[in-house]
Amino acid sequence: MRIELDKLQGDGLRFAHNYEADEIVLDEEHARIVKPTQIEGRIERKASEYILRGKITAGAQVDCDRCLKAVDVPVEQNFEVAYVPQSEYASSETAELHAEDMDQSVFSENSIDLDELVREQIMLSMPLRALCNEECKGLCPVCGADRNVEDCGCESKEIDPRWAALAALKEDQD
Ligand SMILES: [Zn+2]
Ligand SMILES: [Zn+2]
Repeated sequence: MRIELDKLQGDGLRFAHNYEADEIVLDEEHARIVKPTQIEGRIERKASEYILRGKITAGAQVDCDRCLKAVDVPVEQNFEVAYVPQSEYASSETAELHAEDMDQSVFSENSIDLDELVREQIMLSMPLRALCNEECKGLCPVCGADRNVEDCGCESKEIDPRWAALAALKEDQD
């Protein structure tokens, strides 16, 4: 969905939109949107810029860092983004103005792409690491079995190379 800036009158406009779960596709292999996404907010004109403030609610899944099991991550992201016309973006003056407290984005063709805003803000809200459980034992590096589910018995083999290295070291010293 795009907000057509021509239609904006007065000092601002409220907007809201619902997306189906599969409408928002994240550019991230280990994270995905699995529930409908809602965005609501307000757009205000400020000289040549537009300020968008509001909230995004979504349901994401992130793969567990250790075992790759999908972990549910509810998303509730408040945003405040200043949209600068593409032609002015390069001027450092504008960039400095918002550097500290506001996200900044660019618009062109007199419209703002809400889908892009939603994707960016959801990515910002994602945890860098997710674990299905603090105690997750992860996948076996030897056979790939999920160690939370089965004891594959690879553990001794895994230690072998280290003992082998120690043994080699000892031989050298003799
Ligand atoms: Zn896990
Ligand atoms: Zn194994």
